[in-house]
Amino acid sequence: MAETSTEMQRSPKCRQHEVLHGRLRADTKVYADVIRRLESCKAEDFEETYRAAESARLAFLRAREALKVHIALHGCERMNRE
Ligand SMILES: [Zn+2]
Repeated sequence: MAETSTEMQRSPKCRQHEVLHGRLRADTKVYADVIRRLESCKAEDFEETYRAAESARLAFLRAREALKVHIALHGCERMNRE
């Protein structure tokens, strides 16, 4: 992930950031899992798994956007531990 923020004010303990970041990680994991399932699912399960993948993808995008917007508005940085 490319981050371009360099001169942003650092606030190491932003609770909201932590919450949004946690959600993004969770949604990323769900998305990755369902994609893996999509690769190996049976033909008759494909549609259902594909729909699950699509909604997981949207949740992931929303979480990513929410974190991005929060950082832009609040000026807090990404957390160091990653
Ligand atoms: Zn923040």
